[in-house]
Amino acid sequence: MEQESAVRHPQDRTFAVKLMEHLVVPTFVVDQECRVLVWNRACERLTGVAAAEVVGTRNHWQAFYSKPRLCLADVLAQGRGAELATLYPFHTEPSELGLGVRAENWCVMPRVGERLYLAIDAGPIYAEDGQLIAVVETLRDMTEHKNAQLALQQLATVDALTGVANRRSFDDKLHSEWNRARRQNGPLSLIMADVDYFKPYNDLYGHQGGDECLKAVSASLQRQAFRAGDLTARYGGEEFAVILPNTGLDGAREVAERIRAGIEHDALPHAGSLVAACVTISVGVASLVPDHDCQPGSLVALADQALYAAKHSGRNRVCVAPATREASLAAG
Ligand code: GH3
Ligand code: MG
Ligand code: MG
Repeated sequence: MEQESAVRHPQDRTFAVKLMEHLVVPTFVVDQECRVLVWNRACERLTGVAAAEVVGTRNHWQAFYSKPRLCLADVLAQGRGAELATLYPFHTEPSELGLGVRAENWCVMPRVGERLYLAIDAGPIYAEDGQLIAVVETLRDMTEHKNAQLALQQLATVDALTGVANRRSFDDKLHSEWNRARRQNGPLSLIMADVDYFKPYNDLYGHQGGDECLKAVSASLQRQAFRAGDLTARYGGEEFAVILPNTGLDGAREVAERIRAGIEHDALPHAGSLVAACVTISVGVASLVPDHDCQPGSLVALADQALYAAKHSGRNRVCVAPATREASLAAG
């Protein structure tokens, strides 16, 4: 009973607003026309924008973005759920907007002067007759957490020396592209490239010199395999691999030759090479239309055989795995 009388106390509204203003969670409230009703202290601290600047206006977007756009609370207030996916690539799919939405986003934060990754919850408030009267938006600064997550992801997928994908990403990508090619009955190509006479390079220019050479080679490779979906990876030591999804043998051979010529063109001096005065690579190419009888490993083995052939037929050249020629040509 006591509780009930407290709820009906005439000072309730003031108390509720005060409570919200002092809440440690950054919070703001908009009405059904997207006008700011409340902008609490924690929200002022997070955004650098004072309540006096935004309360009564529709300018709250300016606290987060440099161009006008809807905030999550506005999406609910205006029932524009269809725009959620475009506005917030990371959001929970609400069964209905009426239950509220959660999203995450990088925000420009013009006043703060640095981007923040915010976790955002928007919850609707209804009148007793069921009509939407306001939306509460609460924010959490997840920047540190997100950056740590991105750094871990980077560590797990990128080769520390060269900055190209590491062996693990190569394996993952090969697997997923293999499955995709099998579903689509399309070709998948693989290029394996190995630096010629790299042991003598290390002996002549030192291990650090060798490291610099590997960086230059991987950068050159990446410049040549530029199509969206291509992946350049360090397969191990001084061996690199390029995955070319949806590419037949002719296309892959072209890329391989471009890669070989690119390295030659860079003309990194190599006094210990027996094939040229500069660093060169040998390249093996293979292409398959995956079927149920073979595994991604078959493509690696074929490209490896072709690379072996390139080494043994004089280095600084591209060789194509012969067994795959028919398969790829048949696929067009
Ligand atoms: P080939 O022309 O037949 O490929 O001969 P190669 O000398 O290039 O091949 P080999 O496999 O004999 O030598 C590869 C060398 O690559 C040996 C190894 O010490 C060096 N290597 C592997 N990883 C790295 C690395 O991260 N940095 C440096 N500097 N050298 C590396
Ligand atoms: Mg080598
Ligand atoms: Mg090697």
